[in-house]
Amino acid sequence: MIKVAKFGGTSLADAAQFKKVRDIVKDSEDRKYVVVSAPGKRFKDDNKITDLLYLTHAHLKFSVPYAPVLKLIEDRFTSIKEELNLNTDLEQEFRTIREQLDNKCDEDYIVSRGEYLSAKLMADYLHCDFIDAKDVIFFKYDGTIDRKKTQDKLGAVLAKSSKAIIPGFYGSLPDGSIKTFSRGGSDITGSIVASAAKADIYENWTDVSGFLMADPRIVNNPQPIKKITYQELRELSYMGASVLHDEAVFPVRQASIPINIRNTNEPDNPGTVIVGDDQADENYENGHIITGIAGRKNFTVFYVHKEHMANEVGVVRKALEIFEERNISIDHIPSGIDSFSVVVPTECVEKTTHEIVEELKERLNTETVKVSKNLSLISTVGIRMAFRPGISAKVFNALGEKNINIRMIDQGSSEINIIVGVEDRDFEDAIRAIYKAFVK
Ligand code: ASP
Repeated sequence: MIKVAKFGGTSLADAAQFKKVRDIVKDSEDRKYVVVSAPGKRFKDDNKITDLLYLTHAHLKFSVPYAPVLKLIEDRFTSIKEELNLNTDLEQEFRTIREQLDNKCDEDYIVSRGEYLSAKLMADYLHCDFIDAKDVIFFKYDGTIDRKKTQDKLGAVLAKSSKAIIPGFYGSLPDGSIKTFSRGGSDITGSIVASAAKADIYENWTDVSGFLMADPRIVNNPQPIKKITYQELRELSYMGASVLHDEAVFPVRQASIPINIRNTNEPDNPGTVIVGDDQADENYENGHIITGIAGRKNFTVFYVHKEHMANEVGVVRKALEIFEERNISIDHIPSGIDSFSVVVPTECVEKTTHEIVEELKERLNTETVKVSKNLSLISTVGIRMAFRPGISAKVFNALGEKNINIRMIDQGSSEINIIVGVEDRDFEDAIRAIYKAFVK
């Protein structure tokens, strides 16, 4: 069994967190490859090392002395080293960093040092190999990953090591210079390592114990989601549940490796396992028909009505072009016989609403275009809902009983979600009502 464990910034924020990581890694022989982020916040108003590194580079760029900021970074690493009694030569490491800064190094190089030093210290602490990401993760010049080259090299290097620490967030370009992923990119590194190691599971250790069936700020003490498919996760995250980046999911999803979201501060909690869509068989039951509920506020609806539209060809296309020309991505297009609506996030049309209304009237040759703001969309998600009668009735009943008006209904043809649109002011009550109907 091979497990790849990725630890996020809060899991490595100080020496006490390093100890928890050590205990977790030591707890299972299977945890062979460990990917680390840079130290994150120790408390609410603390700084993330990566943010300080970006700030260091900004000082350099605008010719403001960077030494005080770099000193903060050095102090954080030094205190971890000293508390854990490690040998890593941090002074030498920081001399190199200063030299590079004085030579006007790239931003990517400097911001990658958080992960690099975090991994150096962890390898020292756990007495295992350090594998520099620049030697095993390769980007093409267009900024995308060179999958083949990475898979071959990384696979070969990992095979030679029985326990290794790999810094997240960066790799190298064909000329050998450092290139980073987008922010939060250590998740992507973890996923690439898991795929190259042909891991049985990719553990993503963070500061929450997996996903909950609903937002705990809305539903009191929601139940945890033990298992979820990628497809369900995509639905929930699209609707606002904050989870892994698509880019981070891709390499493991492709290799059919499950992801386990775990909490470094609560290691006994099994967290949530994300499995392939084909593994969503009858054996996986968390006891509920639905997997989760998520939603987003602040949508705007453009309602278009035109007499005898049903007999006219191309009306919807003409309307959609107006949005396409403004690079606005559309969320839903519920339709009636002689009418349809276009639902988009309000923030995308804040400044152009009137303009769009005028264009719709003109190009579609109709007078009836209405706009309503303050729509919330709520998605009830669950792969087990498909082909099962009575589920939508339950959602609508729950809302009806609470006197909540449903302004829009949409069900994807895969039947894994039911989306309802309600007034923003009913958003929280609607989520609570649906949760109660299915869970308690
Ligand atoms: N340290 C990087 C960031 O803060 C990458 C990561 O933690 O995933 O964005």
